[in-house]
Amino acid sequence: MPSLFEMDITKLKGVGEKRAKLFQKLGAPTAGDLLRLYPRAYEDWSLHTLIRETVLNDIAVIKASVLRRPTETRVRGGKLLYRTVVTDGDSDMVLTFFNNRYIPSLLKEGETYLFRGKVTGTLLRREMISPEFLAESKSLSIQPIYPATQGLSSRQIASAVQNALTLLPEQLHDPLPDKLREQYHLCTLRYALETIHFPKTPEELATARFRLTFEEFLVLQLGLLRIKSGRKQENLHPVPNTFPEGFAQLLPFSLTGAQRRAISEAVGDMAGESPMNRLIQGDVGSGKTAVAAALCWTVTQNGMQAALMAPTEILAAQHYSSLSALLEPAGIHCALLTGSVKPSQKKKIYESLATGEIQLVIGTHALIGDKVEFQNLGLVITDEQHRFGVGQRSALAKKGASPHLLVMSATPIPRTLALMVYGDLDVSVLDELPPGRQKIETYLIDPQKRKRAFTYVQKHLDQGRQGYLICPLIDEDESGMMSVLQYGETVKEAFPNATVGVLHGKMKPAEKEQVMEAFSRGETQLLVSTTVVEVGVDVPNAVIMLIENAERYGLSQLHQLRGRIGRGKYLSTCILITDSQNEETLKRLKLFRDTSDGFAIAEADLKLRGPGDFFGQRQHGLPQLKIADMTTDMEVLRQAQQCAKELSASHALDKEEYKGLRGEIRRLFAKTGGEGVVL
Ligand code: ADP
Ligand code: MG
Repeated sequence: MPSLFEMDITKLKGVGEKRAKLFQKLGAPTAGDLLRLYPRAYEDWSLHTLIRETVLNDIAVIKASVLRRPTETRVRGGKLLYRTVVTDGDSDMVLTFFNNRYIPSLLKEGETYLFRGKVTGTLLRREMISPEFLAESKSLSIQPIYPATQGLSSRQIASAVQNALTLLPEQLHDPLPDKLREQYHLCTLRYALETIHFPKTPEELATARFRLTFEEFLVLQLGLLRIKSGRKQENLHPVPNTFPEGFAQLLPFSLTGAQRRAISEAVGDMAGESPMNRLIQGDVGSGKTAVAAALCWTVTQNGMQAALMAPTEILAAQHYSSLSALLEPAGIHCALLTGSVKPSQKKKIYESLATGEIQLVIGTHALIGDKVEFQNLGLVITDEQHRFGVGQRSALAKKGASPHLLVMSATPIPRTLALMVYGDLDVSVLDELPPGRQKIETYLIDPQKRKRAFTYVQKHLDQGRQGYLICPLIDEDESGMMSVLQYGETVKEAFPNATVGVLHGKMKPAEKEQVMEAFSRGETQLLVSTTVVEVGVDVPNAVIMLIENAERYGLSQLHQLRGRIGRGKYLSTCILITDSQNEETLKRLKLFRDTSDGFAIAEADLKLRGPGDFFGQRQHGLPQLKIADMTTDMEVLRQAQQCAKELSASHALDKEEYKGLRGEIRRLFAKTGGEGVVL
C-alpha cells in the first residue's frame, strides 16, 4: 500500500490538524500507518442479557428500546444530566448520562440500541451510568478498542480507520505473494486489514490475526537475517586455533571449565572459514570479562586491533580498568574512549587508533563516531548487547573489514527469545560460576520493617562492608531525579555516621564516574542509586542491597541488580521492600526470592510479564512489534522463522514479486536506525 503510506492522515474525513497531531502521537501520521494501528482489544457485544438477569456491579450488554426522549436537568456545579428509561420488553432500566448534550438527538424514542456499561441501582430498579451504546441496525457484535489518547477516543479512531479502509485501492498489492500465502494458509492483506479492525466473528478475527502476526514476524526475521548475512564473508582475520595459554598465565585465578570452553569455541571460530559471530551468555558474575580479555589478547597477538563497546560510561570505565590492568603488563596498549574524554585526548586516541598503536579500545557508543578509524580492526565485542540498537551493532563492525563479532549478554535471555534476536549467532553459555561464590540471601519485607533493615545494613557497615540502596524511581525524569536526592537525604539521616554517595542517570558522566569510583575504592560506604548501577558494576566489598519499591521492577532487572552483590568472599544479602498487596506481584517477588538461577528467572519473567522487559522500549534492540506477541505467538514465530529461512536460502526475496515485502522490512527497521538493513 505505498500510496496510503504517503497519504497524510489529515486527508481522512474528520481529521484536522489538531487531531492529526494526536494520531501522530499514536504512531499513525499517514492513512497507511493508521491501518496498521491495530485494536489493542475487542469488546464482545453479541452476548447481551436480559435486564432482569444482569448482575449488579458487573459490566453487561443489554439490547433495549428507548421508552421516552431523554430529559435534561441541570444539577449542582452546572452539570447537565440526561435521563431516560429503556426496556427490553421484559423489564426496564434507567440510563443516566452526564454533560453530553447530544444524547437527546442520539437516542431516539422507540428505537433499539445495544447498551454496554456497569450495572448499578438496586435489585428492583437497575441503572447504568453513561453506558456506551450502538444502534442495533449497524451494530457489529465485536467492537474494536484502540489505544486511545487524551482527546482522541477509541470510537474516533475506529471511524477514521473505517474511512481509511474505503480508500484501499481496488488492486491492493499484497506483500505476501499468492504462493506463499497458500503454503502457510494465510488470508489476503485486504481481508486481514478489514477484519482485524472490524471482525464479525472470533474465527474471522483469528484468521486475520494469524496472517498479520505471521507477516510481522516474517518481516522482522528477514530484516535480521539480512543484517546478519551482510556479515557472512570470508575470514579476513584468521588466528591460529590454539588455546591462549599465555593469557591464562596473566590471570590471578584459574579459568573455570565453562570459561575455557567458551574461549576455545571462540578461538575456533576465529580460526575458521568465516568471521566469528558468537554470543556469550552468562549469568551475572560468571566471568565474561575474562573470556573477552582472552580473545582481545589473541587478536592483538596476531597483529590486529580489538574494540569493546559497553552501554554506559561506568561500565566502559570498569572494563577499561580491569582489562588494562590485565593486558597492559603483557605489552598491549589500551585506551578508553567515551563521550566525556577531553577533545585533545580524543584526538590523540583517534590518531593512535588509525596508526594501530592502540591495540585495544574500550568505550561507549562514542566508538561508532565518524572520526574513529582503525588500522586493522579484527574483533568487535559488545557487552550487554541487547541494550544496543540493531543499527549500532553493525555500525561498529563496519569500522573494520568484516571483523569477528562477540556479543556478551548478562541478562539470561529465554531460549525462545534468543532464537528471535540472535537467530544465527553461535552461542556459548557460561553455566558455571567461579569457585567460592556464596548464594545471596534474599528477603522480602514490607516498609514497616525498613528500620530493622537499616539496622542490619549498619551492622555490615560496622564490619567494614559496603552496601547499595536502590531508589524507587525507574524513570529518570526531573521528578525522578528529585526523589533520588530526597531519598539520599533520608538515608543520610538514617546513617549519620556513614559516608553516602548518590548516583542517578541525570548526572554528568564525569560526576557519575567520581561517585562510582569513590564507592569502588571504598571511600563511600553506601551508594544510593537508581538502576544506572544495574549493569556490570563490580565492587566485591559491597555485600548488601536494599531495593525500595521492588514491585516496580521486572524479575530480570532485579536479578541484574542483585548480581551487583555476592561478588566477593563475604556472605551477601538482598532485601526487597514492597508495600504491594497484589497477589500476583507478591508471587512474582517470592519466586525471585527463592530462585538464584538467572535463566529460570528469565523464563518466569517472560511468562509473567511478557517480552516487554527484554524488548521494551528502554532496550530498543528490536523494532516495536505492532501485533505479534512473543510470549503467546511462539508457534506462529516458528512458522515465520521457517519461512524466512526458506526465502533467504532461495534468494527469493530479490525477485520482483517480493518488492512489497522488501518495503515492509525497510519500513519496520527505518524507525530503529536500521542502517544495517541492506535491501
Ligand atoms: P560478568 O560475567 O558478570 O561480567 P565478571 O567478568 O565481571 O562477570 O566477573 C566477576 C568477578 O569474578 C570478577 O571480579 C572477576 O575477576 C572474577 N572472576 C572471573 N573469572 C574467575 C575465575 N575463573 N575464578 C575466580 N574469579 C573469577
Ligand atoms: Mg560484566
